[in-house]
Amino acid sequence: KAPSTTDKMAVSRQLHEEASSVIPGGVTANIKYFAPHPIVMEEGHGSKLIDVDGNEYIDYLMCYGALMSGHGHPSVYAAVTDQMYSKGTTIFGTPHRLETDMAKKLVSLYPGIDQVRFCNSGMEATLLATRLAAAYTGKKKLAKFEGHYHGGYDQVLMSVNPEEGKSGQSSEPAVVPESSGISDYYVNNTIMLPFNDYQATEKILRRHAHEISAIIMEPVQSGFIPGKQDFMEKLRALTLELGILLIFDEVKTGFRLALGGAQEMYGIKPDLTTLGKVLGGGFPIGALGGKREIMELCSPSSSRDILTAGDDNPGARQAFFHSGTYNGHPTTLAAGLATIQLLEEDNNLRKIFDRTEHLKGELEKMYYSAGIPMQAMGEGSIFNIVITDKAVNNLRDMNGTNTSLRKAVDYELLDLGIYSKPLNRYSMSTEHSEGDVEKTLQAHHEAIRRVKSKIN
Ligand code: PMP
Repeated sequence: KAPSTTDKMAVSRQLHEEASSVIPGGVTANIKYFAPHPIVMEEGHGSKLIDVDGNEYIDYLMCYGALMSGHGHPSVYAAVTDQMYSKGTTIFGTPHRLETDMAKKLVSLYPGIDQVRFCNSGMEATLLATRLAAAYTGKKKLAKFEGHYHGGYDQVLMSVNPEEGKSGQSSEPAVVPESSGISDYYVNNTIMLPFNDYQATEKILRRHAHEISAIIMEPVQSGFIPGKQDFMEKLRALTLELGILLIFDEVKTGFRLALGGAQEMYGIKPDLTTLGKVLGGGFPIGALGGKREIMELCSPSSSRDILTAGDDNPGARQAFFHSGTYNGHPTTLAAGLATIQLLEEDNNLRKIFDRTEHLKGELEKMYYSAGIPMQAMGEGSIFNIVITDKAVNNLRDMNGTNTSLRKAVDYELLDLGIYSKPLNRYSMSTEHSEGDVEKTLQAHHEAIRRVKSKIN
């Protein structure tokens, strides 16, 4: 049960009520809500957030992982203001230099990327990827894994966390739309796969290979449940054999597991890769990259050939469409390039990883001494606190963990000045200091003590 709100958050409560009269639920994204009311933030500085009541928090949400250099990093701020004020405008609606700079950077970092297109969110990137896969292969069904999230549009909003009783057998998960209003067309053209179960996945894929354009997947589910190495390798080999494209959705994992994302960590080259979050340095972005032969379909010169082919050439491929007013936004690209540069210099990425490892290790020891079996699951700069003594390899395992205890601790942590939305992952940044980690450990110690005293 969610705790009642305290006086400490009176202004938050009042602002949430005010918002709720003009914004459904008082939130602009459903994920921002938690009971009894979300905390309304006013300022972000480095690793800290300050709410409208003046309470300070060490922020581990980091905008769902998007902020890898914390809030308002001076280097990012300098790059953005230079771009906005010195270069004369915020967006040109024409090609510009930073697009090529960022594309070259991504080609150099991501083994699976020869060419790139930019867009404005992770969801747009996956939408572009799945359509491109259908155009390239001429097949219309899309395969995805149960529990994997790729954005909020109809085609992929299936079985992300289906209601118990509706989800089907573990070896053959059901296709369950996660919103009302989704057309049956998408339900009927989705193939659902069980993550980290190769045998069952292979069986389903062989049965449907002739109609599946691509598999879209989070190589590390929700950023903390890794695909097993041999599962990933076998899946890559099988998709090549069956003529199914493999799309790595690295919106969460990009830069956070390695600069070259999960594909660098696994040593596996997907056909297409989607990126977002960290790439924009705190501004809205998405990107699709992939093999030259596939990406070239987006090119207007190949589209023009097709458009002029006319009726004389019925075998010609139809043009592929990709556009967007704000694609390749200069401010965003300036912020993203500054962020990547920061991660590349001074061994900064390694420093974040080491600090994350230290926090994870100390938390595991602390929970263990309190008699709570906890695994701090994840690689690189993201982890999650998972309360169970069993192995967690997919959504069903995750649903069997002790989320009520986890949630109770999370609510105490909010009171103690540690901000992560209840049940959310922890994302670290260049700005999380040793002092932050120490305070976080003390807060967990106190939160566990409070929860235990309430239970006993
Ligand atoms: N794919 C993955 C793996 C994500 O984590 C997210 C966002 N959480 C998205 C796609 C959608 O990105 P956006 O919210 O930028 O549309």
